[in-house]
Amino acid sequence: MVGISIFSDFDAANPPGILTILSAVSSFLEENRVSVRSCVKTKEVLFLSFVVTAAILVSTTVHEFLHFAVARAMEIPAQFLNMTTVGIPSSNVDQYSAFHLLLMNGLAPLFSILALGGLGFLYSIRRSSQKHLHRYFIAWIALLNLPYLGLQMLLVASRARFNGTGNDFAAIAGYFGVPIETRAVLSVFGYVCFLSLLYPLRVVIRAPTNQSSEGPSAFKSSLKRILGVSLFGVSFGAVCVGNWMLVDDIPSGIFAIVFGGLMPAGLGFATLIPWATKWVKHISMNWILPGVLGSLFLLPLGIIDGNDYAIIWLIVVDIILGSTFFASISPTARPLFSES
Ligand SMILES: [Zn+2]
Repeated sequence: MVGISIFSDFDAANPPGILTILSAVSSFLEENRVSVRSCVKTKEVLFLSFVVTAAILVSTTVHEFLHFAVARAMEIPAQFLNMTTVGIPSSNVDQYSAFHLLLMNGLAPLFSILALGGLGFLYSIRRSSQKHLHRYFIAWIALLNLPYLGLQMLLVASRARFNGTGNDFAAIAGYFGVPIETRAVLSVFGYVCFLSLLYPLRVVIRAPTNQSSEGPSAFKSSLKRILGVSLFGVSFGAVCVGNWMLVDDIPSGIFAIVFGGLMPAGLGFATLIPWATKWVKHISMNWILPGVLGSLFLLPLGIIDGNDYAIIWLIVVDIILGSTFFASISPTARPLFSES
């Protein structure tokens, strides 16, 4: 079995740039001989974190480029307004057909969810003896894009901006004239959908065979269970209150939904995960820590450029903790990356 041999050339004190990482990943794809195994070394975690960063960059850039390409195909002069937003000045919206603007807003999220999320998921769960790093990358593409359906629905009651700078589903709902009350209800469904989609994704993150048989139990402490369930109560309540605010035309309701909804949900999953088990320790080093670090690497870019990378870590943390929690309550899940 071949380990992650690139680390002999890897200086953890001087992390390489994004281009170096992408070229390293592509050379791995060509060599096709790297397996993701139980990695415990700091530099290995760091390397996996850069793979997660690359998966986030690819997911968002493909999505935004689709907004751009669809707009240009219909002669709407959309621009990259920042790294994660493509659109036109809102004052120019009246110059273009509403249907064309619908396509500009609507096709990219469908592609992200169905092609990147759906196909990435199907590829990741395919039975195969191969255990390569590109599978790790594609697993992250699935993790990032499948729950995006729930995330888009969660924000559907935000203001409909047809120029491309707002939530995509809100623009679609606005085009079809869906009343704000209905959109608020859809947003609550979106919250449930976002969390529910983490259940199938539990099979994408895997532990070595010999460790998954340990059978971790999430519910050993009733105190933790009460705390965890309470946090989800707070989270659900914040989503309802935030949508109530949006129905009352209070735009800050969106902050209640994003921060009040997603933060306690992540904490709730973290409370319910059986961290002390060897199985979860493995998942932590291979999936949770790279997910957290890989999304935090983009935080400075998000702050400087004023784009979605400033917030994406919160979503990634929820996704990976939720998938780990669901994996922990169904330990019979077949391992994707097993040690040979
Ligand atoms: Zn979009």
